[in-house]
Amino acid sequence: MADAVYAGSFDPITNGHVAIIRAGLVAFDRIIVAVLTNTSKQPLFSVDERIEMITHALEGDPRVEVDRFDRGLLVDYARSKGVNVLLRGLRAAGDFEYELQMANMNSHLNPSVQTVFIGANDYFFVSSTLIKEIASLGGNLGGVVPRCVEEKLRATFGP
Ligand code: ADP
Repeated sequence: MADAVYAGSFDPITNGHVAIIRAGLVAFDRIIVAVLTNTSKQPLFSVDERIEMITHALEGDPRVEVDRFDRGLLVDYARSKGVNVLLRGLRAAGDFEYELQMANMNSHLNPSVQTVFIGANDYFFVSSTLIKEIASLGGNLGGVVPRCVEEKLRATFGP
């Protein structure tokens, strides 16, 4: 058993992300959820808001650490935390090519770091981008995002 880093924008966290973390905890002792702060996409929520929603969604599970990842390479961040495994979720065939490219580049950069994929099942159709779009249009997101995220989206976009 070992620890894994699960990195992403989590803008916001969805039940798809939560399912990957819960599945990951079957294989790993501890998961560090690393929130990317400098993405090319303009985030809707601040890093602090994203961290708060993740922490709330995971109900303070002691096996999950929520951290921010500000700069540099993900493999270097992982090594700085003493972790050799990067956890990623795969939604559809469309994710596969990019994810395989990233995984191979990361192990090229640091051969002692490996990527482990978990396939999405129940929430394969859920992405943070789509969630924001549906929320902005007033759609019902019950069941696809954690309750705290649903409330936060409602507060942001209105009922
Ligand atoms: P990024 O900014 O890299 O797109 P995300 O926060 O969207 O990061 O996603 C982080 C990880 O979670 C990625 O590996 C992504 O494939 C995975 N993921 C996102 N949504 C889902 C989902 N609905 N089911 C399974 N995995 C998912």
